[in-house]
Amino acid sequence: MKRELAAAARDLAAYVKSLDENLAEPPCGAAVAPRPAKTRAASPLPPPAGEPAVPQMTKKPADMDSLAEQVKACRKCGLGHARLNAVFGVGSYKAKVVFVGEGPGFQEDHKGEPFVGRSGQLLDKILETVLGLKRSDVYIANIVKCHPMKNPETPEAHGNDRPPTPEEISACRPYLDEQLRAIRPACIVTLGSVATKVLLGIDKGISTVRGRAYDYPVELFGPGHPIKVIPTYHPAALLRNPNLKRDTWEDMKMLKSFLETGKL
Ligand code: SF4
Repeated sequence: MKRELAAAARDLAAYVKSLDENLAEPPCGAAVAPRPAKTRAASPLPPPAGEPAVPQMTKKPADMDSLAEQVKACRKCGLGHARLNAVFGVGSYKAKVVFVGEGPGFQEDHKGEPFVGRSGQLLDKILETVLGLKRSDVYIANIVKCHPMKNPETPEAHGNDRPPTPEEISACRPYLDEQLRAIRPACIVTLGSVATKVLLGIDKGISTVRGRAYDYPVELFGPGHPIKVIPTYHPAALLRNPNLKRDTWEDMKMLKSFLETGKL
């Protein structure tokens, strides 16, 4: 028992040191080369009259590529008119675990890939240190696929991020469930309060609900085949408050154990 505790303490110390080194790195904003300016839609207009607010998935996409094309062309909510790039998702279509955040930010909008800024670097480090995985081993996505901006007229401005509205979330949510149907993961890790509240259908903050696993309330594969949900802090919260690293480590150890044993 003493040996196990000592090993766990060593693991935790190595993880904290590794993340501290990551936190010490300069923000990668300057390192992410913005893509050549893309022409964005003329103005942040609401969906045209008569168009449903929620995407109608009448035809199940043959594969994720066709779903990605749908998202690329989507203008079902106002976010689609201001974005530089739709941010569909990244990783393995055979992943056992899908990490879900709330929505793309500045860096993600420029690159068209989720979690590529400093938060993304930290997420990569956590994956590697605790789970021994690369981002290409898992799948990473957001609830909304386009960048929610305080001022949609200035997509090139920093500090322009905001959380998605309930309307934007309901418009975009079907895409995430389609992604989950296609990937068939055993587990979803929700990153932060917004993703956790939306996916679990609850109104409690992340610090209250983390530390245990839940069943995903949407039956994507019929009764008796729930996807497990493990809520944890958004990496951006760890950047703001390094004291949350230990809780995140515990959540990731729970995930590791589930991936190895199939039990929680
Ligand atoms: S956020 Fe989602 S629903 Fe809104 S335009 Fe983008 S892809 Fe479409």
